[in-house]
Amino acid sequence: MWFSFSLFAIVVVLILAVVQNALLDSRYREHQVERLKTAGEEVQKLSLGADKEETGKILFDVCRRSGVRGYLLYEDGNSVFPEITDRKSYFELTKTLKKEFGEDKESVTFSDENELFYAVETELEGRSCYLCMNSSLQPLGEFENALGLISLVTVLVAIVLAFVASAFVAVFVTKPVMAVTERAKALARGDFSKDFKENYFYREINELSDALDYACTEISKTDRMQKELIANVSHDFKTPLTMIKAYASMIREISGDDKEKRDNHAKIIIDETDRLAALVGDVLDLSKIRAGVTEDGRTVFNLSEEVYRVVNRFDFLKETAGYVIETEIEDDLYISANRDRIGQVLYNLIGNAVNYTGEDKKVTVKLFKAGENSRFEVKDTGKGIRKEDLETIWDRYYRSGEAHQRPVQGTGLGLSIVKGILEAHGYPFGVESEEGKGSCFWAEFFPPPAEESGEENSDGQATLPKEKEKKERIGGGV
Ligand code: ADP
Repeated sequence: MWFSFSLFAIVVVLILAVVQNALLDSRYREHQVERLKTAGEEVQKLSLGADKEETGKILFDVCRRSGVRGYLLYEDGNSVFPEITDRKSYFELTKTLKKEFGEDKESVTFSDENELFYAVETELEGRSCYLCMNSSLQPLGEFENALGLISLVTVLVAIVLAFVASAFVAVFVTKPVMAVTERAKALARGDFSKDFKENYFYREINELSDALDYACTEISKTDRMQKELIANVSHDFKTPLTMIKAYASMIREISGDDKEKRDNHAKIIIDETDRLAALVGDVLDLSKIRAGVTEDGRTVFNLSEEVYRVVNRFDFLKETAGYVIETEIEDDLYISANRDRIGQVLYNLIGNAVNYTGEDKKVTVKLFKAGENSRFEVKDTGKGIRKEDLETIWDRYYRSGEAHQRPVQGTGLGLSIVKGILEAHGYPFGVESEEGKGSCFWAEFFPPPAEESGEENSDGQATLPKEKEKKERIGGGV
């Protein structure tokens, strides 16, 4: 990082120096030419019609004021001004001037390594001569050297600053990011013990570690639940299997000839097989729901009818065990959802209410319009749910310890399935419970989108059920 910072700084400074030099060079030349030109024009203007002596004075004056040098030379190389003649050098200069002017130029600008010249052809006392202004380029060279030094110092300062900046970044950004990465890797390996939270300098890194902490908690929760589920389900597989094996052996060895005993034992085997089948079915359902399968197969259907249909499935309990299921169901409430899955939700919730209701064996099922939504509620009069269990009953593979004889077969996965289905559909749900008084499980269903309203029949065409037909299909409360 230090290397790239330094390289970046050096490149920037170098580019700056090169551009500056190039610009400076051309700007300085332009400026000098302008100065020489102005001075030359001034001399020409002032000396118009003046004699040799006067012109020399004017030239001297203008040169002094403008800080440039000036020469007035005849074409043969003799000098008018300055009067002190260094014939040889003036000859050289005149030769150069002649060459620069060529045929038809009025003025020329040229330079050698150290000097800049500007010259015009003019006339003095009827003789043509050159007025040549000249200045040194030396200050530019000196200035460029100074600039080079400044650039060098800047590069050194930039390298030091780059070092400081990279050290800062390393301490406050790279190191924390590396630490967080290390922990994230541990998390990926299934080590949930590491805590991401630390007080980092940058808010963004703090937010990242918060998000990872949250992910860590959630993943560890799911992981724990998964392990718990596997452990409990395998345990629950084992019990019926042991029973089945034991009773099958008993039939073979002891009760085979005794019809009454054999029937009893066979019944136990059948019951246990049912339990196993239910458990396998629920585990499969749960894994499907968790994989998001329920999101498919949405249709618009009459929820009121579906609630009646499910309630009717519990009819046998009123005859055999004296249960009372009261219903307050508003007609013709439609929703758009996976009908079978919603049926499963209703069945599990009503089944639980039947299982856990109180001595009076009373359960109340309600469906009504709550604003735009349809709200389903099922109430029982049982002993309720402890406050600390209210959250966990939805997630855990939960079996109450009591040897409570339940009228409806439960596998301990019912509420997990309910939660999975309702969450996949995006419907809100919950439970209100008062210990000793009973519980009320509820779910709210959104109305179908406007363009979908109508029930889908087997041809996939949307039609509303006919009034008469509907009344026939609906069974009353028990
Ligand atoms: P189970 O097969 O055990 O009923 P569920 O997932 O349906 O499995 O329910 C989980 C647990 O939540 C139950 O074991 C029970 O302790 C509690 N529970 C569910 N419904 C009720 C209810 N209506 N009243 C009291 N407790 C309930």
